[in-house]
Amino acid sequence: MYCRKCGALLNNSATFCHKCGVEVVVVPVEKKVKEKVNVNVKNDYAIPAIAVATIALVLCVAPWPREWGIGTSFWMKIAIFLLGVIAAFLSRKADGINKNLEKKYKQSVKPGLVKYAFYVSHAAAFIGLVSIVI
Ligand SMILES: [Zn+2]
Repeated sequence: MYCRKCGALLNNSATFCHKCGVEVVVVPVEKKVKEKVNVNVKNDYAIPAIAVATIALVLCVAPWPREWGIGTSFWMKIAIFLLGVIAAFLSRKADGINKNLEKKYKQSVKPGLVKYAFYVSHAAAFIGLVSIVI
């Protein structure tokens, strides 16, 4: 190491510079802290995808009066299918943004709720479509 004042070459064990007498201070190297990415702020599709997927899921499973239900009401089937398709579109966008963020920041982005929206929306679209066709 070198003296921080005069630049003289010093022993690693030296506590004072032999040339100028200044005290040797070892500055610890600071560990770089990885910056955390606030994904929710940057992923504008996540919240709408989760919200629409949840509405579709509720319409699928909620204990509605029999005459409103998915098995009996044509408009309920249409609503579930359309909400499922919209949520599927939004969740694919949100999933793509998460993947780009992971590439950019080289850290895993919490995918939990986006993945939930992805699966629920596809299931709802599928259930809605099948119930319309049957
Ligand atoms: Zn010195």
